[in-house]
Amino acid sequence: MTDRFTPVADARAHILAACSPVRGTQRVPLRDALGRVLAADVISPVSVPPHDNSAMDGYAVRHADLSADGDTRLFIVGQAFAGHGWAGEVAAGQAVRIMTGAVMPAGADTIVIQETARLDGDTVIVPPGQKAGQHRRRAGEDLRAGEPALRTGRLLRPADIGLAASLGIPELTVRRRVRVGVLSTGDEVMSIGDAPREGGIYDSNRYTLTGMLTRLGCEVVDLGVARDTREALSAALESAVGEVDAIITSGGVSVGEADFVREILASLGEVTFWKIAMKPGRPMAFGKLGRGERSTLLFGLPGNPVATMVTFHFFARDALLKLMGVSPVAAPIHFAALSDTAMKKQPGRTEYQRGILELRDGQWHVAVTGAQGSGILRSMCDANCIIVLGDDCGNVAVGDAVNVIPFEGLI
Ligand code: AMP
Ligand code: MG
Repeated sequence: MTDRFTPVADARAHILAACSPVRGTQRVPLRDALGRVLAADVISPVSVPPHDNSAMDGYAVRHADLSADGDTRLFIVGQAFAGHGWAGEVAAGQAVRIMTGAVMPAGADTIVIQETARLDGDTVIVPPGQKAGQHRRRAGEDLRAGEPALRTGRLLRPADIGLAASLGIPELTVRRRVRVGVLSTGDEVMSIGDAPREGGIYDSNRYTLTGMLTRLGCEVVDLGVARDTREALSAALESAVGEVDAIITSGGVSVGEADFVREILASLGEVTFWKIAMKPGRPMAFGKLGRGERSTLLFGLPGNPVATMVTFHFFARDALLKLMGVSPVAAPIHFAALSDTAMKKQPGRTEYQRGILELRDGQWHVAVTGAQGSGILRSMCDANCIIVLGDDCGNVAVGDAVNVIPFEGLI
């Protein structure tokens, strides 16, 4: 470990460069594809919509029949409903009553909406000023047969599932799920159900990590808690290397504890230990355990519960999305909000404060959630966003604009 602090951006870039998408794919029914990552382009087998159709209720007419400067009287020869078209061909001087979604009858090219037309027995009177082709949806205007409808690397959302359904596609090819092992470390860390012991604390990190990983779409493997001994840690890690794509540990990487952890990790693979120029967070390890096909990424996150969550979001999240095959990995949504709180801030490191965003008078304001200690998990519960104070930023005064990332876009 060097004494130099590594900028957040450098550590992120190093981690991302070391990750590549998992290889396996599987076919899943459309309904199970939500949140999965597309592993092959979806080529549209049909055009959407398949036929020209009406965008409005009204009359299908031939624009050439219409007078430019006076009313036109057309004879109504039939009716076209969605799903039940009109089989004939519209001839000169004729119109067809048509409903939204009905296929355009042959011969007609323009829709006159019912609100502008007047009905007179078997005829319709069309005022001047109708534009050729108006209110007509073109076949293939949504998608053309043979074109990619959805691209490889897409993290599938409800609209994507609907789009595939609109093409009549029953299954999609997606990447296999990324498997991530979660391991807590520490002699003081107890699992739920353990008999309470002097100096013990319940493990929260395995739960926050499991939640965040599940939201991301990963399969979580619970590796339990490893005591702070050489044997316990190596046994836990060795059991998981090659079995999962990544292991996320929490705790055990701070200066006081790192020595034997570093030895073990060095014997299992290649791991870099960092002191990151950030708060909370700071100590972190990242690397690969095992070799070749059976290698497993290791994210050694700090143990303090807030630091674990923050480092997960800013270092592990994008890397795991890349592993899942997401491409491109979009930055989480962030925007400027006016601070309701003065904040002390040292330039030269990135600070992540837990904030509460509120819309007041059409402007987003953000306040800090009380005590910001990196062990105070409640600050994450109370918050609805993370305030990111970048490396160059100094003290923040009330009313200054600060960068925020809403949790909704992040977790
Ligand atoms: P460490 O990084 O191991 O020095 O841990 C830093 C702090 O985080 C200590 O106060 C630990 O007790 C606490 N901590 C470590 N692991 C966990 C965990 N799994 N759940 C809750 N707190 C933890
Ligand atoms: Mg520890």
